[in-house]
Amino acid sequence: MARVYNFSAGPSMLPEAVLRRAQAELLDYRGSGQSVMEMSHRSKWFDDIIKSTEAAMRRVLNVPDNYKIGFFQGGATQQFAMVPLNFMTTGAADYIVTGNFSKKAAEEGAKFGEARVVASSKDKNFTCIPDVAAIPYSADASYIHICQNNTIFGTRYVEVPQVAGVPLVADMSSMICSEPVDVTKYGCIYFGVQKNIAPAGMAVAIVREDLLGKAAKGLTPDRIPTMMNYTTLLGSDSMYNTPPCWCIYMTGLVLDWLEHDVGGLAAMQAVNTAKAKVLYDYLDGQDFYHNPVEKRYRSLMNVTFTTPDPELDKAFCAEAAAAGFVNLKGHRLVGGMRASIYNAMPAEGIDKLVAFMEQFRKAHA
Ligand SMILES: *Cc1c(COP(=O)(O)O)cnc(C)c1O
Repeated sequence: MARVYNFSAGPSMLPEAVLRRAQAELLDYRGSGQSVMEMSHRSKWFDDIIKSTEAAMRRVLNVPDNYKIGFFQGGATQQFAMVPLNFMTTGAADYIVTGNFSKKAAEEGAKFGEARVVASSKDKNFTCIPDVAAIPYSADASYIHICQNNTIFGTRYVEVPQVAGVPLVADMSSMICSEPVDVTKYGCIYFGVQKNIAPAGMAVAIVREDLLGKAAKGLTPDRIPTMMNYTTLLGSDSMYNTPPCWCIYMTGLVLDWLEHDVGGLAAMQAVNTAKAKVLYDYLDGQDFYHNPVEKRYRSLMNVTFTTPDPELDKAFCAEAAAAGFVNLKGHRLVGGMRASIYNAMPAEGIDKLVAFMEQFRKAHA
């Protein structure tokens, strides 16, 4: 069996050890005589899976007791709507637009009130993050929304906004569990799991308890559709209805891998920093390929680059795929290439990609 190096932005690679464990447990989950795909979500086996997955997430991300963790369907995109629907109590919120997903989040916010774009890096083609200390935040904002790592443009926040009394809401879809996070800086953290945690089909929201039980200005909590009300799932241990059982199980396996094989998020961060350095150092040491991002804001997870010519970009992606490096094509909005190097990408995948890039450069420069 030949496994490729998959640089997809999401759904993306999973740790091989996790896939093997899922395979070993596929037909008979720990003596239950059933697959997790088949079992009742009210069974004692699944009850143990969901509880231990939540507990592991709490340990790995160091989530304090006054935050609830919930497993949601509808992806991160549905969170774009749930955030204003549940939290825009003053009828206004501040949004920082640093790419496509934060723009979409602001557009959803505008359906429920005033979504004020208080800063944007659009004029710099999203190659940097605005200085968060210099932003004129609104005094009446219900929350400040950011996208912590910009999957398409390959940028990330180095510092996050901290305004007294105004909760910070962050989309962490493409960097969650790649490094330690100080959860206490946030009112709500949400992420789709298909980038760095599990197969597609689920989003996780981590919400500070005092933000629950409210609604956007003009609404009351009972007017929020049941499945879009954070309190519905967060108040019933994500078991109000049938949860995405397989995704939750796989999330548990990945968290177990992070905790016991990797050694936690500080260890993961060291690995990810070293991996990204190999690629950025290579990019900085030649002038055939170009990465447009301001160095300070370079993402550790999504590395974008171009050759001097869009036709060569195409040839690069085709030749790379033939050599076993797949899904390197950049997002349709930006073109060029993007190597997504999430937790599960082994260091050797990046070493080999760099060797391939150098070979391609020599052939075409
Ligand atoms: C992929 C992604 C999304 C969209 O996630 P879905 O689960 O497809 O809705 C949102 N935000 C960020 C930062 C992403 O990387």
